[in-house]
Amino acid sequence: MLERSYQAYQEALNYIPGGVDSPVRAFKSVGGVPPFIDRGEGAFLYDIDGNRYIDYVQSWGPLIFGHADPETLDAVCQQAKKGLSFGAPTLLETELAKEIVELFEGVDKIRFVSSGTEAVMSAIRLARGYTGRDDIVKFEGCYHGHSDSLLVSAGSGAATFGTPSSPGVPADFTKHTLLATYNDLESVKRCFEASDNIACVIIEPIAGNMGLVPADEEFLRGLRELCDEYGAVLIFDEVMSGFRAHLKGAQGLYDVVPDMVTFGKVIGGGMPVGAFGGRAQIMEHLSPEGPVYQAGTLSGNPVAMAAGLSVVRRLKEDPDIYKILEARAKGLVGGMKKIADAYGIPLQIEVQGSMFGFFFNDQPVRNFEDAKRSDLEFFAKFHQEMIKRGIYFAPSQFEAGFISTPLDEKLIDETLEKVEEGMKKIL
Ligand SMILES: *Cc1c(COP(=O)(O)O)cnc(C)c1O
Repeated sequence: MLERSYQAYQEALNYIPGGVDSPVRAFKSVGGVPPFIDRGEGAFLYDIDGNRYIDYVQSWGPLIFGHADPETLDAVCQQAKKGLSFGAPTLLETELAKEIVELFEGVDKIRFVSSGTEAVMSAIRLARGYTGRDDIVKFEGCYHGHSDSLLVSAGSGAATFGTPSSPGVPADFTKHTLLATYNDLESVKRCFEASDNIACVIIEPIAGNMGLVPADEEFLRGLRELCDEYGAVLIFDEVMSGFRAHLKGAQGLYDVVPDMVTFGKVIGGGMPVGAFGGRAQIMEHLSPEGPVYQAGTLSGNPVAMAAGLSVVRRLKEDPDIYKILEARAKGLVGGMKKIADAYGIPLQIEVQGSMFGFFFNDQPVRNFEDAKRSDLEFFAKFHQEMIKRGIYFAPSQFEAGFISTPLDEKLIDETLEKVEEGMKKIL
């Protein structure tokens, strides 16, 4: 029953392009009406028709303690009463900066912004300003926000310079972006052979935007060596994986230290926050200390900082959370795999801390090409059956899933019952 959501969607379409403020929310790739949300509570979302969903999206990652978490709300409300924004420095910014710098090797200083997009865009500008070079290397299937130079798809040719993947992006803006293949070091070497002007290599070390596809440690080590050899900056985009895959993001799982890291999602606890940090000798090039310009009216917003600080401190106090959430994530996708096997449905599964992924695919998924070979039609049907049964998975095969602390084994068992019903129904 999505009557009210259907009406709300029709009404929204009159005033907002596609009825949504971020495309994937429209459910285009899975079909059906996107439930309009009234409220969240812990592991649950409630839509305006009164349906309850077990939520595996958690606002696309930020809500590691679940919806309307009382402690986070408390931090937000207390700070909001003191004022919503000052446009002047606060103690909160230094406190949150300190918490993050302490955890991440290679991050000596950090700057807060208002979104992941802004964090990555600024990090790349700084890497370019620092090296005095223009070209950047990114990987197919990795998402780094929607700034112009990152909206690229592969052109033709071996070491491919990107072509715009969206109208409105001039080819001149993407001609400095080289595309490489995830988990394929040779493809990165070809980029360095094709250009002697590479400022940085940017990667999601635990990719969550083509479904969940972790990088091999060897591959990341190879990137580190290549960047050192050519004097390029290695940027880990941990907007999603930071504080999600592990307290220390990829650095907690791999023995590779990048020169810069970008953050977002969890560090805002559900408020709009992004951040980028790096080695002191790079960060000192940033305005007002150095010449590379970057600014923001609401950057380091006190309410957002208070939310982030509350969340990050709790995670630091209780790093076992990641083991607990990982065990639950394994219970979920492990259970799904058993059911899929029993019905002869090809399924690949992946877990990294509180992040999980599953592909309807008979081959392991190591890069975007592999991910695209998944059965998207089956995924769409599966998603519809799950929504009908009150299970809210991301409405795309190419997104990661998230376990929050209120989502316990009981809810996972409930989910698995619905998964079995749904799969049976489709066959
Ligand atoms: C979500 C995400 C971004 C973009 O962050 P926004 O806050 O949506 O602008 C960038 N990089 C990665 C890896 C992300 O997952």
